Amino acid sequence: MNKLDAAIIGGSYAGLSAALALGRAMRKVLIIDAGSPCNRFAPHSHNFLTQDGESPAMISSKARVQLEKYKSVSFLNDWVDKVEGMDLGFEVQTKSGQLFSAKKLILATGVRDVLPDIQGFSDCWGKSIIHCPYCHGYEVKLETTGILADGDVAYHYAQLIRNWTKNLTLYTNGSCSLSEEQKTKIQDHSIRIIEKKIQRIEHNQGQMEALIFEDGTRETMRALYTRPHFEQSSELPKFLGCETTEMNLLKVDPFYQTTIPGVLACGDNASPLRSVANAVASGNIVGAMTNNQLTEEEFE
Ligand SMILES: Cc1cc2nc3c(=O)[nH]c(=O)nc-3n(C[C@H](O)[C@H](O)[C@H](O)COP(=O)(O)OP(=O)(O)OC[C@H]3O[C@@H](n4cnc5c(N)ncnc54)[C@H](O)[C@@H]3O)c2cc1C
Repeated sequence: MNKLDAAIIGGSYAGLSAALALGRAMRKVLIIDAGSPCNRFAPHSHNFLTQDGESPAMISSKARVQLEKYKSVSFLNDWVDKVEGMDLGFEVQTKSGQLFSAKKLILATGVRDVLPDIQGFSDCWGKSIIHCPYCHGYEVKLETTGILADGDVAYHYAQLIRNWTKNLTLYTNGSCSLSEEQKTKIQDHSIRIIEKKIQRIEHNQGQMEALIFEDGTRETMRALYTRPHFEQSSELPKFLGCETTEMNLLKVDPFYQTTIPGVLACGDNASPLRSVANAVASGNIVGAMTNNQLTEEEFE
C-alpha cells in the first residue's frame, strides 16, 4: 500500500480547499467524501466572493474541476468509518472496505444540524427557514419574518435581524427564558414576543406561509430564522481522541492542529463561524500547515 502524504476526510469546501494547497505543493493526497454537505438543502449560496447566488453543488463541482489538473490529488466517493493511528501516520478504512495509509489526516467532516421535530420544518430548512442573515437575509429583507429561538440566542437574533426587516416577531415555542430586561428591550424595538407552542408549519414547496400553534391560531410569515442544535457529522474525531470545546467543536490551535499530533481540522467541525468563505479560508491554511509539518519532518 503506497502511503499518502495526507488523507482528507470530507471533500466539501474546507476539504477541497486544503487539497488545492496540497496539490499545488505536489503532495499525494486522497479526498474521501460522502457527498452530504450541510448546505445541500439550500437552492442558492450567498456571501462568498465570485460565487454569490451560485448553487452549493456548483461551487464544489467547479472546485473539483480545477483540482483535477493536480495529478497528485485523487478523489473517492465513500464514507470513512474507521481511522487508526499507526507508526508514523494513520490507517483509514472506508465503508466499501478500502484501506489507505497516510502520514497526516485532515478532518474536514463538517457538522450535522439536528432539526426540531416540527411538521413542515425540514421541508423549509435552507429555503425559507434560515440560520444566517449574511447567507440568506438579503433575499427576504423587509418581509414579514419570525425568529424561532429563546434566551441569549433570541436576544442576539432580535438585535441583528431588525437590520434586515422591521416586520419581526420572536417565537419562543413555549414560555421563554429571557430576562425581564431582555424582554423589555426587545419589545421597545417593536418586536413582538409570542410564547405559544408551535404545532406545525404551513408551507408551499418549502416556502413558509404560516406558523400554526397548538391553540389553533396562526401567524403568516415569509421567513423564519433559527439556529438548530448541531453535532459532529462523524465519530472519527472521537475515535482518534480529539478534544472538543464546550460548543462541541474540535479543539484546534491557531494553525488548526487538533489535540492529536498529525491530525488537522478545518471548516465547520472546528469553527462556530459557519460560512463557505470561512471553510475555504481554514482549509487553505490547513493545506499549508500540513505541508509545513511534512517538510519539517522530511528535513530532519
Ligand atoms: C441550510 C444552510 C445554508 C447555508 N447557506 C450558506 C450560504 O448561503 N453562504 C455561506 O457562506 N454559508 C452557508 N452555509 C454554511 C456553509 O454551508 C458551511 O459553513 C460549509 O458547508 C462548511 O463547509 P465544510 O467543508 O466544513 O462542511 P460541509 O460542507 O458540511 O461538508 C462536510 C463533508 O464531509 C463529508 N463527511 C463527513 N464525515 C465523513 C466521513 N466519515 N467520510 C466521508 N465523508 C464525510 C460530508 O458528506 C460532507 O460532504 C449554510 C449552511 C446551511 C446548513
